[in-house]
Amino acid sequence: MPDRITMKNALVEIDGDEMTRVLWGLVKEKLLLPYIDLKTEYFDLGLENRDRTDDAVTSESAHAIARLGVGVKCATITSNADRKKEYNLKALTPSPNATIRAILDGTVFRKAISVKGILPTVSTWKKPIVIGRHAYGDIYKNAEMLIPGPGKVELVYTAADGSEKRILVADMKGSGIVQGIHNLDDSIKNFARACFLYALDEKLPVWFASKDTISKTYDGRFKDIFNQIYETEFKEKCNAAGISYFYTLIDDAIARVVKGEGGFLWACKNYDGDVMSDMIASASGSLAMMTSVLVSPSGAVEYEAAHGTVQRHYYRWQKGEKTSTNPTALIFAWTGALAKRALLDNTPELGAFAKKLEDATLKTIEEGEMPGDLARLAQNAPSKVLNSWEFIDAITKRL
Ligand code: NAP
Ligand code: MG
Repeated sequence: MPDRITMKNALVEIDGDEMTRVLWGLVKEKLLLPYIDLKTEYFDLGLENRDRTDDAVTSESAHAIARLGVGVKCATITSNADRKKEYNLKALTPSPNATIRAILDGTVFRKAISVKGILPTVSTWKKPIVIGRHAYGDIYKNAEMLIPGPGKVELVYTAADGSEKRILVADMKGSGIVQGIHNLDDSIKNFARACFLYALDEKLPVWFASKDTISKTYDGRFKDIFNQIYETEFKEKCNAAGISYFYTLIDDAIARVVKGEGGFLWACKNYDGDVMSDMIASASGSLAMMTSVLVSPSGAVEYEAAHGTVQRHYYRWQKGEKTSTNPTALIFAWTGALAKRALLDNTPELGAFAKKLEDATLKTIEEGEMPGDLARLAQNAPSKVLNSWEFIDAITKRL
């Protein structure tokens, strides 16, 4: 194909599962390949290939992002007992996102894509709320155990010199469960830095919340480190840019978030960010309108849609239905990665294309042609509810 935009350097392309895998191919075929001579290092993280490679492909893809600096990822199945049966797997593999995040040690920023005519469920929200999710440790790197019967559970730390520290977790009166979690000072510091850097870039105030009243040592450490990084590295820059930082308890934060008008970066611990980003995404409109970018301390970035593989739609697609699955966040994952590649490589043509594709997508929705999830929310009834294929064609027309 003549006249396609060329890329100086490759980016990492990570394919995934189910309905998002179907849309991935479609987005590439219709919206990218006709315009760009795509240069990617491709990794197939579809569940079957992860199983075939004993999950080696997942770590390889993360190391490739560290090397090339930019990646884009499709949603992937996190395997469980049902999936093991469904896909006839050798073994259960860990969540690919957790593996990638652990290798890149990053912070995930999630932001809803706003479109004219689609109002958030929370009527006070005027501006997007960005979630900054710490992407290392806590329950995502836990050790847990079923306790069969009465006995003592202890936490033991053996220092490098062999000395020991131990505390009692519980004197169990009967069977139950136990879990050990951890985090690292360095990772928390990088989390705080990533948040303040993002906030300075986007001119947003920063909120951080945890449960330090109950978890005085664990969450208390998060609070202290965040504060220390702010005071020693960012306070002056934030003051100069008119950006405030404020810490509160997680329950207080939630009350304020729902009553506020948005327009801030909400820094969340790993689990809080996981749960709250789905709440923010759904309340902002649709899960399919939430973008997600993982920023590692080295500067490497990975873009994805915040939603999963849209399993229910996939089963309907397998039966022949042309589902109305919304590809917007997937498209924005690609445009985010292409724009970043353009910035790093100094290839403004590529950056301009990414912007045009985003504009064409938003314009399609704003002009009343949209998938079903948005049609339900549209202020004015849409002129057309489209399936994914028709929606992508409608974008192509404007592109
Ligand atoms: P999901 O795929 O996000 O879908 C949940 C529901 O949200 C869908 O059934 C659909 O609602 C709606 N939805 C999500 N994305 C949509 C889109 N693009 N267009 C229209 N509607 C959309 O979550 P899930 O069903 O809980 O998880 C499915 C699989 O995804 C699981 O195996 C999970 O492990 C994986 N997952 C992966 C990631 C990731 O890779 N980043 C993240 C989360 C989950 P309706 O059915 O009502 O239309
Ligand atoms: Mg989640």
